[in-house]
Amino acid sequence: MNEKKLPLNEKKLLNLIKDIPTPFYLYDEKAIIDNAKEFINLFSWAPSFINYFAVKACPTPSIIKRLFDLGFGADCSSLPELELSHKCGLEGSKMMMTSNDTPDEEFIRAYELGAIINLDDITHIEAMENALGCVPDTICFRYNPGPDRTGNVIIGNPVEAKYGVTKSQIVECYKIMKEKGVKHFGIQTMVASNELDGDFIVETARMIFDLCNTINKEACIKLDFVDFGGGVGIPYKPEQSSMDLKYVSGEIKKLYNNLIVAKNLGPLQISFELGRYILGPYGYLISKVRHVTHKYKDYVGLDSCMADLMRPALYGSYHHISVLGKAKAKKDKIYDVTGSLCENNDKFAIDRELPSLEKGDILVLHDTGAHGHAMGFNYNAKLRPAEYLLTSNGSLKLIRRAQTMDDYFETLRFDGAEVEI
Ligand SMILES: *Cc1c(COP(=O)(O)O)cnc(C)c1O
Repeated sequence: MNEKKLPLNEKKLLNLIKDIPTPFYLYDEKAIIDNAKEFINLFSWAPSFINYFAVKACPTPSIIKRLFDLGFGADCSSLPELELSHKCGLEGSKMMMTSNDTPDEEFIRAYELGAIINLDDITHIEAMENALGCVPDTICFRYNPGPDRTGNVIIGNPVEAKYGVTKSQIVECYKIMKEKGVKHFGIQTMVASNELDGDFIVETARMIFDLCNTINKEACIKLDFVDFGGGVGIPYKPEQSSMDLKYVSGEIKKLYNNLIVAKNLGPLQISFELGRYILGPYGYLISKVRHVTHKYKDYVGLDSCMADLMRPALYGSYHHISVLGKAKAKKDKIYDVTGSLCENNDKFAIDRELPSLEKGDILVLHDTGAHGHAMGFNYNAKLRPAEYLLTSNGSLKLIRRAQTMDDYFETLRFDGAEVEI
């Protein structure tokens, strides 16, 4: 069980946001920082522990800078994500470049910034070397265990996943890189997404530590770091519970002692790339009821839509909804909560029990701090919403303004621009 909390009590929240045009995202700074610190503390036993925050989950500078201040690194998967993290103060091994289908420019920029390059495929060794004209001192490979592991709905089964080097290729990859003069080695894997069962992560650690042993035996390489990827879930539904990370950390520590320290493979840096767990519960999409309609079903039409929050339409995900000022009202109505897109799956909730709603009610969609605003798009020429930070001292800061119609028109060339050939 987890209680769906608001960042402030209803009255204070209503008062704070009364003049802000909806829809918008709101993030809770104190909760973000407390959670991030707690996470780091849980792994304080691990040598040089680091979480490379998955920038794609929330590429908003004011938020990720706060994480970087706490010692987090960044996991980047595109050139703009690299630049964004760099502009927020990161460089060198604090940046992990985990792209797939990687273009040359990304290899080049990652190398210039000193980021760790995490190669997605054995053929990328040659592609990277051609792009850079050399090999970096440090290299990481993304590992895909294939049929050895089963995935889950969001990420799919490893055998069908496009990511990573296979079991039969992995040792060869390290041998090649050693031959080419690489000095420091790491391995990364990500086989779960939004997983709540801690044993899944523990098994990933066991698999990777075993692989460290295999690589040591077969390629005579002692790895410098391991990266267990992202994928720790959050309890989106009130009846779900958070992953027991204290247990996970304890189990990984035992495995580390048995499979790494006892076999003389330490010290080995341990890292993650968590995005959702770090921010998910501490972001809210705030939206107003525009229309309540009664067709064959009862609908509540909001002033936001799936272009602002795609998860429900994309994965059928549950996002809890609170109605400001109606926390104590009986939930005796059943609504489909919809957006304004011309797309019938533009629904935030289907058959949701809610109090009786009316035009002007303010709805809070919970757990939208990660993969929320970031996944937004402009279909139907819907403009992207603003983001605000509720700071630790209770003030409100605009951290990304809403997109304007001018922004939208910016890239258009009404009469077509001549292309020089
Ligand atoms: C998306 C992603 C993550 C973050 O996943 P979460 O579910 O937010 O923890 C980490 N690493 C890689 C390579 C990813 O693609």
